[in-house]
Amino acid sequence: MNPVSFIEAKRDGMENTPQEIREFVDLANRGLIPDYQISAWLMATFFRGMTGSEIRVFTESLAGSGKTVRFPGNFQAVDKHSTGGVGDKTTLVVLPIAAACGVPVAKLSGRGLGFTGGTIDKLDSIPGFRSSLDMNSFMKQVEETGCAVSGHSPDLAPAEARFYELRDVTATIPCIPLITSSIVSKKIAGGASAFVFDVKSGSGAFMQDTASARELARQLVSLSLSMGRPSMAFITDMSQPLGKWIGNSAEVMEAIDVLRGEGPPDTRYLSIRLAAAMIFLGGRSCSLPEGESMARRELDSGLAFDRFRSLIRSQGGNDEEFVNVDKRKRHLAPSVHEVIAVEHGWVTSCDARLIGETIRFLGGGRLKKEQRIDPSICCELLAKRGDKVVKGSILARLYIQNEDSRLENAMTLLNRAFEIGQEPKPQDLVISVEGPGSP
Ligand code: URA
Repeated sequence: MNPVSFIEAKRDGMENTPQEIREFVDLANRGLIPDYQISAWLMATFFRGMTGSEIRVFTESLAGSGKTVRFPGNFQAVDKHSTGGVGDKTTLVVLPIAAACGVPVAKLSGRGLGFTGGTIDKLDSIPGFRSSLDMNSFMKQVEETGCAVSGHSPDLAPAEARFYELRDVTATIPCIPLITSSIVSKKIAGGASAFVFDVKSGSGAFMQDTASARELARQLVSLSLSMGRPSMAFITDMSQPLGKWIGNSAEVMEAIDVLRGEGPPDTRYLSIRLAAAMIFLGGRSCSLPEGESMARRELDSGLAFDRFRSLIRSQGGNDEEFVNVDKRKRHLAPSVHEVIAVEHGWVTSCDARLIGETIRFLGGGRLKKEQRIDPSICCELLAKRGDKVVKGSILARLYIQNEDSRLENAMTLLNRAFEIGQEPKPQDLVISVEGPGSP
């Protein structure tokens, strides 16, 4: 193939042929196309977009560029993917609910990206937890216990990693066809036969507006379906964090609270909706409402919590440290600082991005790829959008290490996250749903 003609065709708004796409991905994966040519094609794609057929062939090529997880016979695992947000700990709740309802869950997760959190970083805060399973152990655990979570193995979809790395440094991440193929290729390589997507929309998400989130959701569902994987996508609000706690260890504790029938209503509600979609796509319920009542039942019976504990223990984690309320304290940073309401009114903004940035700035997330995270850094929200507050009440608490010289800047950032107005501004948590069985 001639990479220059391939780039020219895309630059001039023509379709790349399936054969050329396959060769381009294969050569790029083997290091035979230089970065500048891949980058030029990415930028042309950013401006020209991709046809449905181009997206499908590109995704198949990325998915097939390395090893793929293959479960035996008719073993049908379901995976869930969130496009990333702040305080989003639903994976830790949804997986054990789905497993408790008889749906095998094979979950490949990522680390935090930018100011958003990642499931693997959250799980790594549990002492002893092994988040990097080799593919044989991953498959064996799903088959034997019904549920496993692992970080992405570099053997799965390696070409995707090469394209992603270049997108990251060439300003070509926010391109819906490229995001769609990036996500779906990794899911396909991960071996699940159906997917549930949670596409976040708002300040704390990749997709800042609902129209782009809806377009991404549509493309994720239609691409997955065209590749034989029934899927659903929820578009959910990420203009404020989910739940009350943001920060790795604290989020695991909050997920445990939800699994014990406590915890904040928004996290419980969204977890039940997402789990219901997994139960439905996994063939264990005939409808989403039936899936929801199954999810609620196993949450309230304690079976989902038992599943969570066995998942953590199967992967070497000491869950007692986070389950036992007295032991929890040593996993939260010791120095506590408050954000105070300066007037009476309703909270009209509790900005997810600024809160995520605050945690990242203090070392609870990464500013550099190789940085170690401090999982004990966290923020507790005492008021969220729609809450009525009085002057002087506490809106949030920030937990940081003693004598951290970044305190003043962090508090300025966190204070900016809150706005108080004279009337409430409600926003639905689930904005819409795409896919089979959706209302
Ligand atoms: N997450 C991914 O996995 N890929 C993208 O392109 C963007 C977000």
